[in-house]
Amino acid sequence: MTERKIQIVIVGGGAGGLELARRLGAKYGRKRHDIILVERNRTHIWKPLLHEVAAGSLDANLDEVGYRSHCYRWGYRFFLGTLESIDRDKRELWIAPLLDEDGSELIARHPIRYDCLVLAVGSVTNDFGTPGVRENCMVLDDRAQADRFRNRLLNHCLRVSRAMSVDPASDEHVRVAVVGGGATGVELTAELFNSAAALRFYGLETFDEKRLEVTLIEAGPRILPALPEKLAAAAQSELETLGVRVLTNTRVTEVTDEAIVTASGERVVSELRVWAAGVKGAATLDHIGGLETNPNNQLLVKPTLQTTLDDRIFALGDCCSCIDPATGRPVPPRAQAAHQMATSVFHNLVRLMNSRPLKPFVYHDHGSLVSISRFSTVGSLMGNLVGGRMAIEGRLARFVYVSLYRMHLIAIHGWLRGIGLIVIGRVNTIIRPRLKLH
Ligand SMILES: Cc1cc2nc3c(=O)[nH]c(=O)nc-3n(C[C@H](O)[C@H](O)[C@H](O)COP(=O)(O)OP(=O)(O)OC[C@H]3O[C@@H](n4cnc5c(N)ncnc54)[C@H](O)[C@@H]3O)c2cc1C
Repeated sequence: MTERKIQIVIVGGGAGGLELARRLGAKYGRKRHDIILVERNRTHIWKPLLHEVAAGSLDANLDEVGYRSHCYRWGYRFFLGTLESIDRDKRELWIAPLLDEDGSELIARHPIRYDCLVLAVGSVTNDFGTPGVRENCMVLDDRAQADRFRNRLLNHCLRVSRAMSVDPASDEHVRVAVVGGGATGVELTAELFNSAAALRFYGLETFDEKRLEVTLIEAGPRILPALPEKLAAAAQSELETLGVRVLTNTRVTEVTDEAIVTASGERVVSELRVWAAGVKGAATLDHIGGLETNPNNQLLVKPTLQTTLDDRIFALGDCCSCIDPATGRPVPPRAQAAHQMATSVFHNLVRLMNSRPLKPFVYHDHGSLVSISRFSTVGSLMGNLVGGRMAIEGRLARFVYVSLYRMHLIAIHGWLRGIGLIVIGRVNTIIRPRLKLH
């Protein structure tokens, strides 16, 4: 009788999960253990690129990774599907029915057995219960939403361009309101101006970026709270130079189908409204399989990244709440944290397979960087290498920012292919159009 293989299942092929699947697949996949990645999408795009996809300055088709070809190369199995629930007694996770575009059922609801399970399902935008957000705002949680935003943006640019060619004195504008002055909101806001400036080269001759009217709304006293005050002030001044209206200390109370309404009663009228004011775990995670979650639906984990109530289930990245003993605060929901957690879970799973004691995860904050598109990059680097915390701006900051994505490419493709793709990406920026207009 053939021995049953140990089955390690990873749910979520994002910044952390895909890297883990590659490493486990390369180590075990074709030998002793069965490594399975369950993911609801057919392709992966690194989430920090989504604001560029939304603004049209990045063609996601060129940067996305197809899970099926990736799994073939790295020795894991890929199951297309959406996690619905977990039965911990039977050690099974249940996958929702897979539907065709017309709603007809392709694959019925089914279970997948696991010996070890890793949850890496990321986060969704948190609207903090604000009325009207769900119906009237767009979010940037995945590629489909970023594509939808880009199409709407281009349609409105076309509308204004047409109005200007019919009547050069036309007062038409594309009005965009972005809620949330964190990295996502700031990066999207700046990227919009980069794209708008390029539109005139692609057939919208009468359009220029002055026709873009962008308001960035932040509830706190300043934008980019994760960065030192001086850098946040520099970023705000850069945005204001572009023409962005930055409202701080401004709480949003409601969103309607034509405006963002603030606590002071102001109505920020806008055709495009984006909510980027924080993240939480998806509703599915709320006490999934009887596991402990915090009020934001994030799974509580032990220092080893095993969930508090079940040593066979790990959680990593945005979907877990991991307290950093160095600061006493949760590890922030960032790509660098997901990457470090994936490495830690990989080593702990190897230890588990060899019946060795697991090691606690240690978070190394390497700082944060915010791209203000081609106009500037600001951020701070942390660590021994730079002797504490160092503020950086300009070319060096841009270089480090771009390097983060390059490191992700190497993490999911290995050195050889990763470097090949970096070179191809560089060539693409030279020979391909600056904007994706379809
Ligand atoms: C616009 C934007 C800009 C950002 N910029 C930065 C930045 O500059 N630097 C930085 O460090 N971080 C940045 N972030 C945050 C960063 O993207 C996340 O912290 C990181 O992607 C988290 O990685 P993860 O693996 O936990 O989740 P994700 O990368 O989000 O991956 C989760 C995966 O799980 C899948 N999934 C979800 N639910 C299910 C389900 N039920 N069943 C099956 N599959 C499921 C999803 O499809 C996805 O593929 C940015 C985020 C956004 C939105």
